[in-house]
Amino acid sequence: MPLQPLALPPSVAVSGDANDPLIHRAHLEPDHPYRSAFSRDIGRILHAKAFRRLAGKTQVFTRRETESDHSRSRLTHTLEVAQIARTAAATLGLNSSLAEALALVHDIGHPPFGHAGEKALDESLHTHGLGFDHNLHALRIVTTFEERYAGFPGLNLTLAVREGIIKHSHDYSAAGHPELSEYFLDQQPPLEAQLIDLADEIAYLTADLEDGLAAGILNLAAVRDQLSLFGRLYSDASREFPNAPLHLLANEALKQMLNGLVTDLMQETAAQVRATGIETLHQLRSASRRFATFSPTIEAERSQTKAFLYANLYLSPDLAPEHTHAREVVQTLYSAWTADPELLPPDHLARAHKEGAPRAVADYIAGMTDSYIERAWESHTASA
Ligand code: MG
Repeated sequence: MPLQPLALPPSVAVSGDANDPLIHRAHLEPDHPYRSAFSRDIGRILHAKAFRRLAGKTQVFTRRETESDHSRSRLTHTLEVAQIARTAAATLGLNSSLAEALALVHDIGHPPFGHAGEKALDESLHTHGLGFDHNLHALRIVTTFEERYAGFPGLNLTLAVREGIIKHSHDYSAAGHPELSEYFLDQQPPLEAQLIDLADEIAYLTADLEDGLAAGILNLAAVRDQLSLFGRLYSDASREFPNAPLHLLANEALKQMLNGLVTDLMQETAAQVRATGIETLHQLRSASRRFATFSPTIEAERSQTKAFLYANLYLSPDLAPEHTHAREVVQTLYSAWTADPELLPPDHLARAHKEGAPRAVADYIAGMTDSYIERAWESHTASA
């Protein structure tokens, strides 16, 4: 079936040209002779230490439990999101460099040990009346913590990328977050940012099915029977390749699932923008809702897939020992270091004096890879 033309009017995209206020950087820098503002942001993110540390952070599986070299890390997950976001943005006629930059930076604020590590850190902060938010942490990384340039702290990214870091997955109220006032909290983010959250979902839903099957935690028959989208595509694949081994049929189904979800996202998003008569970025940002979305049928199947993964993978008894370990490590170290900040390395101790130990210790832990915090845990338990 031929696709509807998907490209939106060029004036709906973020232009990123010399007059675009969204390319503003907090510290003035001369233009680059041949690279656009957003391709410079891509380069700065790729060269950041926090980006490289994504290789050592758990997405779903820690190294300890699968002993597989093939499960996704946050880095490989991030690259998959970038590929999806770039394709979808380009096909919709949007700014694909901006979408790519936002995808590359979208998980940079995540602590070690995946969701379990994040939840544990958030609970620790709650005992001090604070909380952990990975988007706000990502903004602090790119504006403050990264030290690479002599002229300014952080990466000095464009306003569009900083806004997207904050707003790609969540709306913050202006009243609750006066410190975010420069990020247009009363407006919708551009479509390039709206796409990121859904590109993220497409990437992890398909990848987690693959990794969960490979780890033997998910059962192929159950996935086929309980997920209508996967089941349909698996049947198509077995008709087309009657002699193929089961794992390749599953792979074919996952490949078509990813493709189908991206196609649906682009078609539905384009249709929604067209149906409201929106023709400019200004109109899009002033709208009362976001437009990046799946069609109702695919949305139901997306939510069925997500619920299945929660029940059978993310919260499965197979992963429970790792989650318990993550919580013990994060919360014990957090308590020890907030009780005695002198145990922190000098730069984090200095930050504890300035911002208080509860936040400084959380920033220190959030920046760690799985293996770094495991080493800290070993030396803590050895000295305790
Ligand atoms: Mg992600």
